[in-house]
Amino acid sequence: MLIKKGVAASLGIAIGKAYLMAEDNILVEQKEVPRDKVKLEVKRFKDALDKTKADLDALRTKILHVLGRQHAKLIDSHHLILQDPLITREVPKLIASKFYNAEFALSVVLDQAEQQFEKIDDEFFHERKHDVFDVGKKILSNLVSREKVSLKDLKEHVVLVAHSLYPSDTLHIRETSKVLGFCMDLGSKSSHTAIFAQSMGMPAVVGLSDISRQVASGDTIIVDGEKGLVIISPTQDLIDSYRKRREELQKQEHFFHRLRGLPATTRDGHKLGLMVNLDSPEDTAEMNAAKAEGVGLFRTEFLYMNRESIPTEDEQTAAYAAVAKAAAGAPVTIRTADIGGDRATQLGIKGLKDETNPFMGFRGIRLFLKYPDLLRTQLRAIYRANTEGNVKIMIPMLSSLEELQSVKRLAAEAVAELQEEGREFRKDAEIGVMIEIPAAAIILDSLLSEIDFVSIGTNDLVQYTLAVDRINQYVSELYDPYHPAVLRLINLVVQTAHKKGKPVSVCGEMASDAWAIPVLAGLGVDMLSVPPKLYLRVKHSVRSMNFERFSQVSQHLLSLASSEEIRKVIEEELKKHS
Ligand code: PEP
Ligand code: MG
Repeated sequence: MLIKKGVAASLGIAIGKAYLMAEDNILVEQKEVPRDKVKLEVKRFKDALDKTKADLDALRTKILHVLGRQHAKLIDSHHLILQDPLITREVPKLIASKFYNAEFALSVVLDQAEQQFEKIDDEFFHERKHDVFDVGKKILSNLVSREKVSLKDLKEHVVLVAHSLYPSDTLHIRETSKVLGFCMDLGSKSSHTAIFAQSMGMPAVVGLSDISRQVASGDTIIVDGEKGLVIISPTQDLIDSYRKRREELQKQEHFFHRLRGLPATTRDGHKLGLMVNLDSPEDTAEMNAAKAEGVGLFRTEFLYMNRESIPTEDEQTAAYAAVAKAAAGAPVTIRTADIGGDRATQLGIKGLKDETNPFMGFRGIRLFLKYPDLLRTQLRAIYRANTEGNVKIMIPMLSSLEELQSVKRLAAEAVAELQEEGREFRKDAEIGVMIEIPAAAIILDSLLSEIDFVSIGTNDLVQYTLAVDRINQYVSELYDPYHPAVLRLINLVVQTAHKKGKPVSVCGEMASDAWAIPVLAGLGVDMLSVPPKLYLRVKHSVRSMNFERFSQVSQHLLSLASSEEIRKVIEEELKKHS
């Protein structure tokens, strides 16, 4: 038996057989090709080239359509690389002369090219190196594609073990009912993969460093998403006690069920708004099962994931309208897509791939303002879907007044266009911003006259305030929502917004943390928005707290200098009333 400690990313307990996910990197093995099969092997390579060419053509058409001629040039240069004798002649030559398999021959040629590029001290040629490898990887994946295993093909229930799962992988997990839970080497609680796990109610532990090397497919493992533990080859006693705990958690869920439809009111009568975060329209079933008051954050990135094309306006309108309809008149806050960072990087958008520091880079509203057609399309779809309900627009990753004004200009243009075209739409959608970058919190007073509401995205606000990458397990200990700087910034946002009568919500993971809930309420936050699976659990926390008491406690917390002291005070306070 081996017990590994990681980060508890999503509540629940999974017990089952491990299924080790292969790495995204394609492992190239050297195999000797029999002499009579050389021609076939060369043909296999040429077929992969043809397939890659067709893929590039399709990608070029999409990019041309969405991003324009300038960006399609990247694909032209990839076409040229595909026709380069280095690829078309050298690889078949190696297959024929050294009897290498196609994958290995290609990797030898790419290695040689890398060495040549290393010798040239020129920015331009260094860029070309990335392009050559990009194309090389595309050919390789076409050579090995038939051997790829899909999560959809799983025959029995498993606990997934991986080095890293991308948010896009979690969408595949959603499509199968065979995954009981997962654990992985990388990641932190607020990585988007963890957030997806929470929204699916799937137990998960992340940031385990080397779990993918400790576990073999078929091992029995337990994923304890409550304590952040993974147990490999547990004893029968331990399995039994975990089964018991799993039942207890299920009983708790049962108890929380009774809170459906009751208001999120504290013991002393203070009413909080309580909404859900949706990651896809499918989450509306869970939202309605919990009888939620509305949607505080509808993440729209799912529309852009696992594909190489941008979703059309009609496709987007249908998705937003479906949620607006399901919410039956309750507010639905649609966030314009926050692609970039760790999400949706396969779209062929120039600047999105190979960033050294994606979280500080090209994501959220900064990306959409560089490609205004993408934003205009999404805004048009939102206004059109507004005819089905009560829709609000929320802007992610805002850092300046100029960005806000540009978005509003584009929104006005979208409205004017729809009007001119005689489309069915409603323009009365409120506009709000997410406070995720400290700069936005600090200049909030200058933004308020332009907006209707404010929502604090604590997942990002913590990462940017403390300069801690939210998916890097090496610094995950520093990722601390209870850091005094975080609490003081939240307080600043609430105080500033309230002076102008604008409501403040919190939609990051902090809003569903049992210790943070009374503190956020005490600081004056008006509304919490949480994953649907945790909705009733959070309501229970709100209904158990005393607002007056925590207003005082929270003021005291603002005077403390360390997160340790802050946690201690909260713990003692919660103990007193439990
Ligand atoms: C946040 O940053 O807190 C947030 C809700 O946005 P996301 O987690 O989607 O980046
Ligand atoms: Mg965010």
